[in-house]
Amino acid sequence: MGVVVRVRAERSPGERRVAASPESVRKLVAAGASVEIESGAGAASLMTDAAYSDVGAQIVAPGAAVAGGILFHVRPLSAAEMAALPPGTVTLGVDDPFQNADAVAAARDGGVTSFALDMLPRISRAQSMDVLSSQALLAGYRLVTLAADAFGRMFGMTMTAAGTLAPARVLVLGAGVAGLQAIATAKRLGGVVSANDVRAASADEVRSVGGTFIDLDLGTADAAGGYAKELAEDRARRQQELLAPHVAASDIVITTAAVPGRAAPRLVTAAMVSAMKPGSVLVDLAAESGGNIEGSVAGERRAVAVSGGAVTLIGARDIQSDLAPDASKLYAMNCANFAALILKEGELVLDFEDELVAGSAVTHGGRIVNERVAATVPAATSVPEPVEGRA
Ligand code: NAD
Repeated sequence: MGVVVRVRAERSPGERRVAASPESVRKLVAAGASVEIESGAGAASLMTDAAYSDVGAQIVAPGAAVAGGILFHVRPLSAAEMAALPPGTVTLGVDDPFQNADAVAAARDGGVTSFALDMLPRISRAQSMDVLSSQALLAGYRLVTLAADAFGRMFGMTMTAAGTLAPARVLVLGAGVAGLQAIATAKRLGGVVSANDVRAASADEVRSVGGTFIDLDLGTADAAGGYAKELAEDRARRQQELLAPHVAASDIVITTAAVPGRAAPRLVTAAMVSAMKPGSVLVDLAAESGGNIEGSVAGERRAVAVSGGAVTLIGARDIQSDLAPDASKLYAMNCANFAALILKEGELVLDFEDELVAGSAVTHGGRIVNERVAATVPAATSVPEPVEGRA
C-alpha cells in the first residue's frame, strides 16, 4: 500500500472549496497513493462521496486523526491542527506563512513537513501546480459578475428602435492574473475597459486581452519573480492623483493590486470614491489585505453617498468559493500535480534539489527551511510539549 493522502473537509466558515476532485483522485491512485476523503468534503463543490469512492478513494469520518502521509488542504491549517499531526506528516496547500507564524512554528516544532503552494516559484514548470494563478483567474471573473450584479445597467452598448444604451466604462487597477481575467470578462460583457499597472510587461498584457492601457508616466516598478515593487510614498501619492480623473469617469472600478508580503497598495482614496457618478460600482479584491480602495471592508457591500445619490463599494471575501466547483476542480489538480513531484511508485521521496520542492517547503525536519519565513517566526524556545493523542 502506498502513502496515504488525506483530504480534509475545510473548517473555515464560508470556505466551500475542497482539495481533491474525482479526476485528481484518479491521478493520485494511479501514482500509487491511497486516498482518504473526509465525508462531505466535496459537497459544496458538487463532488459527492460516491463520486470519490467510484474512483478508489476511501471515505473517512470528518476530523478522523491523521496518521502521517500527506494532508491536502485549501485554507492554511491552524497551529492546533499542525500540532495534532504526527512527526513526518507532509502538508500541502495554501499556508500564507507570513500571516500565520503560529502555525509555521507548530509545524516546525512538531516535525511536520509543510509545502505552501502559495510559495511555489512562478516558473513555467510550476504552472500546473500554481494555485495562485488558478484561483486568481476565477477571482477575476467573479469580480466582474459581482460588479455587473450591483451595477443595475447593461455593460454592452445596445442600439434599439427606442434608443441607444451607452456601454459601461470599466477601469481595472492591477493587471496580474486576476486583473487580466477581469479585463477579458468585462470586455466579453461589452464594457469599454481600461487598466493600469506598474510592471513593465503589463501594458502589452492589458492590450493582449483587449483593454486600453492607461500610461500614467510614473515609470515602472518591477521586483524579482515577475512581481511588482511597492511604490515610494511620493510616487504612490502621485499615482492616486493621476488616477483620480480616470476613476471619476468610470462606471465600474475593479481593483486587484498586490505586492507580495506587503499591505495592498492604496490606489483609490475616499475623496476619489466621492467624486464618482451615482450608480457607479467599485469592487476591491484586496479588501482582506488592507484594501486598494479606502473604506472597503471584506465581505461587505456598502452604499457610499456621493453628490446626487450613492455608489456601491464591495469588499471581496472568499470569492473563489462563489465558484466552488470550478475553483476546486483546478485547485485539486494543482495539488495532485505537486504530489506527483514527491511520490515515486507510491512512496514519499522529497528531493530538495528540485527548485519547486525547495521553493515551496516552509518547514522540514524540525526547522523552518524558508529563510524569509524563518525571519518572521520566533525561534523555538524549548523542547515542544508532547501533543495529546500523538504516538
Ligand atoms: P499579484 O497578485 O502579486 O499582484 C497583482 C497585480 O497588482 C500585479 O500585476 C502587480 O504588478 C499589480 N500592482 C502592484 N502594485 C500596484 C500599483 N501600485 N498599481 C497598480 N498595480 C499594482 O500578481 P499575480 O497576479 O500573482 O502575478 C504576478 C506575476 O507573476 C505576473 O507578472 C504574472 O504574469 C506572473 N505569473 C507568471 C507565471 C508563470 O508561470 N510564468 C504564472 C502566473 C503568474
